[in-house]
Amino acid sequence: MNMDDLFVFPPPVPCGTSDAMSDSSKNTDTPGIAPGIAFADRVTRIAPSPTVAISSLALDLQAAGRDVIGLAVGEPDFDTPPHVKEAAIRAIHDGHTKYTQVDGIPALKEAVAEKFRRENGMDVSAANISVGTGGKQVLFNALMATVQAGDEVIIPAPYWVSFAGITEVAGGTPVFLASGFDEGLKLTPERLEAAITARSRWVIINSPSNPTGMGYSPDEIRAFADVIRRHPRLMVISDDLYEHLTFDGFTFSTIAGIAPDLADRVLTLNGVSKSYCMTGWRIGYAAAPVPLVKAMAKLQSQSTSSPGSIAQYAAVAALNGPTDFIAENNAAFARRRTLVIDALNAMEGVSCPAPDGAFYAFADISGLIGKVRPDGKPIESDSDFAAALLELAEVAIVPGVAFGLSPAIRLSFAASDEVLKLALRRIAEVVTSLR
Ligand code: PLP
Repeated sequence: MNMDDLFVFPPPVPCGTSDAMSDSSKNTDTPGIAPGIAFADRVTRIAPSPTVAISSLALDLQAAGRDVIGLAVGEPDFDTPPHVKEAAIRAIHDGHTKYTQVDGIPALKEAVAEKFRRENGMDVSAANISVGTGGKQVLFNALMATVQAGDEVIIPAPYWVSFAGITEVAGGTPVFLASGFDEGLKLTPERLEAAITARSRWVIINSPSNPTGMGYSPDEIRAFADVIRRHPRLMVISDDLYEHLTFDGFTFSTIAGIAPDLADRVLTLNGVSKSYCMTGWRIGYAAAPVPLVKAMAKLQSQSTSSPGSIAQYAAVAALNGPTDFIAENNAAFARRRTLVIDALNAMEGVSCPAPDGAFYAFADISGLIGKVRPDGKPIESDSDFAAALLELAEVAIVPGVAFGLSPAIRLSFAASDEVLKLALRRIAEVVTSLR
């Protein structure tokens, strides 16, 4: 993929209609593969994850000797805690190197159930737990197990790219509800209620959010619960991956804990990637009604089978072990958040609200649209600005269009203070150079 292709984001393709489902006849020959070989509709109708694509390009440029600062990636820069690594090494020496139960070893399911009871006040047992190869696979299983062609999945925007991509793979129709900067980047219960139709299957609540870092208060979650209660066929995914990464005393809450009467139609998604600095270990999990857990296991049994055995033992140690490092990491993230927000807000034409959690700054760049680069190229969109930052400042960020809200940028502050200061200096130089 080259730089020009990278910042072109096609609008999400509506799918789930009979037209969208019978498209393979329209496939044309593809260079590099034998003539007449057609790809399945489920691949041709989706776009690759833009965040992964931009991060990969930044890595390629770095490997080619360019001094690119990658702030597009969504992972903590801290190392996995030592006690977790030791548990993994112990698992290897103890011979835990074989296939395991498809959706998680009993010790991990028990540790996850205990986490949900202890931290979220949820009434769950190991039978409610599904473990997969990252939260992404668990989400994939849930949507693939439940979404039929024509079903709608309500996705508040700005949204994490995979909510849309996986819905489309499953043949469903993403229904985006965008909230702008003037609305605090947050959905209201009234707008949710207005979007629910007879075809609505799921609504996805992600708090704190990737990409905005905005979080819903317990009262706001309660208000969503009131709406959802009135629509008994609607199910809820609560994506809580950033639960532990919060600032300024933000109170995290999750709908299955706050509204236990809804638990038989809630899937609470979480994992060790972000809180425990374990993105590469690929362990995610969910609590869900038992029949859904079983359907997801059936799908997983026909795809990856169990997650890696060693990573599962490491995840048990993470969930049952000490968590003081989380507060230490958060103190660093809080310091960087201030550094980044202050620097962005000091740039003319840029304004950035302070996130409640996660490690992303999501900035409004509407004041830059219509300006022109020193080389004469216009900034007509956030993609143009992202391209300018990569070309002129060698800083990789993600344009808001990838997350369903423009013109904006998402910048990850999971990088050292020094790297962030350098990146922000370079961004400021580009902004100042625009006319
Ligand atoms: N949910 C959100 C909002 C995310 O940002 C991510 C990763 O970026 C995930 C889920 C999935 O994380 P993983 O597959 O590493 O568990």
